[in-house]
Amino acid sequence: MSLNIKHIRDQFPILKQQVYGKPLVYLDSAASAHKVVDVLLAERRLTIDYYGNIHRAAHYMADKATADFEAVRTQVAEFLGAEGREEIIFTKGTTESINLVAFSFGEAFAQPGDEIIVSEMEHHSNIVPWQLMAERKQARVVMLPFADDGELRMDLLPGLITPRTKMIAVTHVSNVLGTINPIREITELAHAHGVKVLVDGAQAVQHMPVNVRELGADFYTFSSHKIYGPNGVGVLYGRRDLLEVMPPYQGGGEMIAEVSFTKTTFNELPYKFEAGTPHITGVAGLGAALRFITEAGIGNIAEHEQELLRYATEKLLTIEGMSIFGTSPRKSGVISFNIEGIHPYDAGMLLDKMGIAVRTGHHCADPVMEHYKIPGTIRISFGIYNTREEIDQFFEALKKVIQILGK
Ligand code: PMP
Repeated sequence: MSLNIKHIRDQFPILKQQVYGKPLVYLDSAASAHKVVDVLLAERRLTIDYYGNIHRAAHYMADKATADFEAVRTQVAEFLGAEGREEIIFTKGTTESINLVAFSFGEAFAQPGDEIIVSEMEHHSNIVPWQLMAERKQARVVMLPFADDGELRMDLLPGLITPRTKMIAVTHVSNVLGTINPIREITELAHAHGVKVLVDGAQAVQHMPVNVRELGADFYTFSSHKIYGPNGVGVLYGRRDLLEVMPPYQGGGEMIAEVSFTKTTFNELPYKFEAGTPHITGVAGLGAALRFITEAGIGNIAEHEQELLRYATEKLLTIEGMSIFGTSPRKSGVISFNIEGIHPYDAGMLLDKMGIAVRTGHHCADPVMEHYKIPGTIRISFGIYNTREEIDQFFEALKKVIQILGK
């Protein structure tokens, strides 16, 4: 069964907007995806029909809100193939999820001289938290490079793992190169050496089936706003045996069992890691986004986006002076490119005036830019709602840009 794109687009009213009098062609879903209308309805329902603060309540409204919130936790556990719902922690987003692990795992396990392997293609969110942890613990961040085609140098990984290695932090899909990394291979190698693996799934869960147990991930993270859900909500999956021995990341309400000035004891999983009032309505919205994805079928979504990727890549390669960064055969719907003699910022600005939303710059992945010795790229990225016609519109606009800016 393939996707009914018209039906899907009808659920994203924003796509009917015009910008500068031109139909909007949104090719920036890797930065943030638009919200499916059911997400807003779920948030509205919870806000208007039965809002109350969750967990602590002894009244009807709060009970209903709690039930909604906890039902989404179960839904996320199923979506990721987790063993138990207590392995799902709600955060603000991928960034907070990774910071949580870097802090708490570091407190539990890192000793001076320990090493964390981080790949060269990571988003800053999966580099800086490890650097902060390394500084605190006198540990060291070791880089796993990628080759010019955008594939991780898996041949180098066995040599980088030492008796001091505690963690490998790697993205499932690169937000610049689009590469889909061989996570299973990484976790097998890591586990053979007693090393844990955190997988940044911010660019993966919306594009392909993910099962954390099949992948062998010890930790897996994603952001709701990239999977057609609300901003300000994210997920951390962590293996229960690890989360159990990791200390809390933040202190506050809900994460405690008992508090006194002589001794405070912590709540059980997952609440130990959810201090304070969470984004209650946002989590309800995430539930609606996951229902939308599941109904559309993640396999159908992957197929549709792979087709767009093939089509757009073919078209781009007909342009003289084109460089595409990331040419792995295992790639998701992200294309980063430059055209000889044209600055990506200028191209992005002109495309915008023609109604085409792309992203330009370093994409929060400075080491990737450094690898290719470039200041930035133009990046297009696809979501469930994009069409071949939009790629044609983008391509025609890009040809005009080349006429205007080209030599
Ligand atoms: N990792 C990757 C691969 C990403 O693409 C992003 C967002 N661009 C992040 C982490 C950070 O996600 P967030 O800003 O939602 O925390």
